Amino acid sequence: MSVTDVPRREPAAGLLDALRAAVGPQNVVTSHDELFVYECDGLTLDKSTPGAVVYVHSTLEVAAVVKACAAAGFPFVARGAGTGLSGGAIALGGMVVIELARMNRVIEIDYENRVACVEPGVINLNLTKACSARGLHYAPDPSSQGSCTVGGNVAENSGGPHTLKYGVTVNHVLGLEVVLPTGDIVTLGGPLGGLGPLPGYDLVGLFVGSEGTFGIATKAWVKLTPTPEAVRTLLAVFPSIEAASHGVSTIVSHGIVPAALELIDKTIIRAVEEWLHLGFPLDAGAVLLIELDGLRDGLDLLAGRVMECCRTCGCLDVRAAKDDKERLLLWKARKQAFGAVGRISPSYYVQDGVIPRSKLPEVLGKIEASGRKHGLTTANVFHAGDGNLHPLILFDERVPEQIAHALACNDEVLSAVVEAGGMLSGEHGIGIEKLAFMPRVFGEADMEAMRKVRAVFDPQALSNPGKAVPMRACMEVKGHRPPAVRPPMRKA
Ligand SMILES: Cc1cc2nc3c(=O)[nH]c(=O)nc-3n(C[C@H](O)[C@H](O)[C@H](O)COP(=O)(O)OP(=O)(O)OC[C@H]3O[C@@H](n4cnc5c(N)ncnc54)[C@H](O)[C@@H]3O)c2cc1C
Repeated sequence: MSVTDVPRREPAAGLLDALRAAVGPQNVVTSHDELFVYECDGLTLDKSTPGAVVYVHSTLEVAAVVKACAAAGFPFVARGAGTGLSGGAIALGGMVVIELARMNRVIEIDYENRVACVEPGVINLNLTKACSARGLHYAPDPSSQGSCTVGGNVAENSGGPHTLKYGVTVNHVLGLEVVLPTGDIVTLGGPLGGLGPLPGYDLVGLFVGSEGTFGIATKAWVKLTPTPEAVRTLLAVFPSIEAASHGVSTIVSHGIVPAALELIDKTIIRAVEEWLHLGFPLDAGAVLLIELDGLRDGLDLLAGRVMECCRTCGCLDVRAAKDDKERLLLWKARKQAFGAVGRISPSYYVQDGVIPRSKLPEVLGKIEASGRKHGLTTANVFHAGDGNLHPLILFDERVPEQIAHALACNDEVLSAVVEAGGMLSGEHGIGIEKLAFMPRVFGEADMEAMRKVRAVFDPQALSNPGKAVPMRACMEVKGHRPPAVRPPMRKA
């Protein structure tokens, strides 16, 4: 399914009046030039201009806006920071966008019970900043954590480099206040979840990762994690990506669980080095960024064991960051790697399949071969410890043939993931972009079960329809997604 398959509908004047009444006219955007800003998220190939964008400031405003949409039978989509990479926040067919960035208060931090209550528009990193002075942090750390929101993280069940040891978003959410697609406000779980499982169904677990299709999270109670006493960050340099992949399996097979275990390949090393000048070895095939944390005692011993694992896999060099400054620089290189790619390619397409670690060399080989076949460069920077690939396909969006090749290459990458017994997404979600692949990994009965759950939350299918799970009509789309058609240029 692509954005071009969805017929466009404009919000009627009555709905726009109701939205203005709900949030004030100054908070309803309808001018074409301003709507343009919201036509896509991080998946820039698929674009659809919203029918309207509504800025909300409170749960009651969200509920009033949702009620207005429900009364008009008009679909809507929540939007956090719009950093999603699977098209989740795209306003398919001209939906109303409910923009949550202004709901950005850390409402309360309960240091004694290590729980924070936040609004959905809080930037992920700001939560850690708010509690770090008291020795706590919010563990899920997407590489986009400087801009993405907690609400977006909840919707996508986001991960990050440190989720290898600490778990993904669902492991850190205790409760949610949610505006259901009817406009009713409910609380799922709650802060007491930190003391043990709450009675009843685990609706928090169900909501997290539902990609905005079950309603809108307007408040989240999340766990805060003690900042570890000590950290060791290692950089291991390998002659090839295969040797580095072998290093990953060897470390894990020795029963060691690093806090983070990231692989960066030669294309990314060059892009990052040319930008940040960190002293990354330009002749390396790949590097592993390995972080160990915990109690100070024994950590150097563990670091020694990890270094030994790397040496047995043929690493050319392995060293520990000598101080916090160097550690932060290494992480800057990792977390801003996508940005660095912008220096070497006008556009890139990033995937996020998950595969068994043992299949890393095989699948990485297929990715490179597919890129070569299509005349495109591929690059890799990913959460290797949990087998969560992030292949980047570099292309030029201004050249239509290159778009077609990038999409074909992307399909081959996802096929390689599926053939390796993997899953379509580790953290970016299905959104719109992987929808056509769902029948490859789920049977019709599996997907029907998902649709039924969805219908319980959203009987009218108004909350972000056309995302996450194929509706029945989309089941006809077998296999590959049709190449996206660039929308016509906007008239001034
Ligand atoms: C450079 C870069 C690096 C990235 N690295 C990572 C990474 O390491 N790990 C990772 O997991 N992801 C990563 N991402 C993807 C993205 O940042 C995450 O998916 C993030 O959680 C999206 O948050 P957002 O606020 O931008 O959400 P948006 O993009 O605005 O929305 C994403 C989805 O969430 C829904 N949504 C948003 N807010 C709510 C809400 N309050 N209630 C219900 N639904 C809501 C939207 O409808 C949409 O379906 C990266 C993206 C970029 C650009």
